Amino acid sequence: MNVYHITFAPAVKLAYVYFWGCNFGCKGCIRREELGDIHLNQHVADSSGFLQLEEVVGILEDFKPKGVTFLGGEPTIDPEFPKLAKVLEKRLDTHNILLTNGYLFPPLEGVDEIQVSIKAITGTLHRDFTGKPNQEVLRNFRRLHRAGVALRAESIFIPHYIEVEEIEKIARFISAVDSNIPYRIDGYIPVAGNPWRRPTPEEVEGAVEVARKYLHHVTYLKGDEGLRYEVECIV
Ligand code: SF4
Repeated sequence: MNVYHITFAPAVKLAYVYFWGCNFGCKGCIRREELGDIHLNQHVADSSGFLQLEEVVGILEDFKPKGVTFLGGEPTIDPEFPKLAKVLEKRLDTHNILLTNGYLFPPLEGVDEIQVSIKAITGTLHRDFTGKPNQEVLRNFRRLHRAGVALRAESIFIPHYIEVEEIEKIARFISAVDSNIPYRIDGYIPVAGNPWRRPTPEEVEGAVEVARKYLHHVTYLKGDEGLRYEVECIV
């Protein structure tokens, strides 16, 4: 499999399974800075070894997580991801959450909840940031909602790039699908080589206020939040 890193939060019994590689090449991708879980104090330097499916299951069995989040990288590009989700649900009875860019329609069996990262509605901006068009992402988002999946959305707010106007377009798009879909706005964390700065807490709150004109459940990360619980590196 493409799995190279696993972390675990003992207090809440949640595991995080990291997949290597992505079908997007986002300029603001945190993986350009840090390959490991950003909640760890340690630095994960590389992807020196990939785990087999049974190894991932075996490791998680020892920790008995209540829930597993698949992230990365992009889990859906791994052909073995659907099987892993199903095996974990069957053998460990975990609540499985997939974080995805939505470019590929994800497997639904074994996945309880899906969070799609919508980078931009404006086609040129989406292509500039990710290197890919966004029609598939938007189409898949609508399809997922029609399929009845527990769906969430998330975006990165970047001052003078993915600005309040773009966040408003994203919120309007989501509300046209269903204004009850939860939406989270993340303040950009600077990645080397980019000209953009971190937004101020007030700027993030301004974007949130605009999104709340369209959506009932908008949350945000300003970047100054403390850790809610400790996370340990398993692999
Ligand atoms: S979709 Fe996510 S993992 Fe992939 S390049 Fe963009 S930010 Fe990184």
